Amino acid sequence: MTLSAETLAALRSDAAAQLEAIAPLDLEVRTGTALSSVVAVLRGGRPGPAVLLRGDMDALPVAEDSGEPFTSERAGVMHACGHDLHVAGLVGAARLLADRRDQLAGDVVLMFQPGEEGDHGARLMIEEGVLDAAGSRVVAAYALHVLSSTLPAGLVASRPGTALAAADSVVVTVHGRGGHGSMPHLAADPVPVAAEIVLALQAMVTRQFDVFDPVVVTVGRIEAGTTDNIIPATAVLEATVRSFSEATHRVVPERLTRVVDGIAAAHGLTATVDYRRGYPVTSNTAAEVDRAGDLVRGMFGEQAYLAAAQPLSGAEDFSYVLQEVPGAYLGLGATPPGEDPATAAYNHSARARFAEESLAVGPAVLAALALDRLAQGA
Ligand SMILES: [Zn+2]
Repeated sequence: MTLSAETLAALRSDAAAQLEAIAPLDLEVRTGTALSSVVAVLRGGRPGPAVLLRGDMDALPVAEDSGEPFTSERAGVMHACGHDLHVAGLVGAARLLADRRDQLAGDVVLMFQPGEEGDHGARLMIEEGVLDAAGSRVVAAYALHVLSSTLPAGLVASRPGTALAAADSVVVTVHGRGGHGSMPHLAADPVPVAAEIVLALQAMVTRQFDVFDPVVVTVGRIEAGTTDNIIPATAVLEATVRSFSEATHRVVPERLTRVVDGIAAAHGLTATVDYRRGYPVTSNTAAEVDRAGDLVRGMFGEQAYLAAAQPLSGAEDFSYVLQEVPGAYLGLGATPPGEDPATAAYNHSARARFAEESLAVGPAVLAALALDRLAQGA
């Protein structure tokens, strides 16, 4: 998709609002160079280690149809993934912690992160030193994500180990030889080869990978040819590839390439595979998930925390943070009041709405995690 310059400018999150919001809190604030990121360090009243809280801030190229009175004023740009709630939540956590500075045995790094929607923003911020912003490597990192459906408002959910999938993308080009549709034997038709590859990738998923450590391949785009009686020279497929363990993530490109090459070769054609690594698996530290569960139940009651049976097949660049330090990534229900979590518009929908009740829960959970982890010491 080609975005207009105005849309791109709007999507490049403007950090002015959060800088203004945290200005009164007596934090050490610095802004990023690669992105419009903000890193703020809140110094505790007592010495100790440092922990990190992260809020991502991207909007999406979606024409908003939520009906909310605060609908986006920028055409074609919407906070369809609720990241505005993440920024507000991180500011809220900063306020709660600043009010309790005396109780804080250490420092809190606040990571306001752009570029989560595919641009590896977390990795760029790690390269700029966010994990060491307080002067020592953070001992734990926490983040949460609001969900406009699937979970009732205020419910917090997570799981140890894999919380979210790894997401790669692949572009396959089948190289044939064009010709007349009436005489395919004089050409080398890439279209049936491409069609066979689409189906073979589904067989690969079920035959070559453990059903309990699955792979999802979705060919979302397929393109070849110009009209019915012309055999094109090439066919192109584009797919997203999801996996749920580092071991599987590692071997998927090789196996996928083998299938593509083998089918092309079987028909006397060739193919090229442009495999692009996206975000790795988001993997939670069990002890930090336990901490989150205990804190949420303690603050909001037994029913307020859900031990999720399965990961989500979405992906997150907070995965890069959790590759470096222990921590937990939590889901926070934000289904609007009166709507059924099973049918409410999901994140990224033009109709997605987020319950404002969750705005009270998110900051409290993040602040409690920071306080509790710091109380444990280095
Ligand atoms: Zn999101």
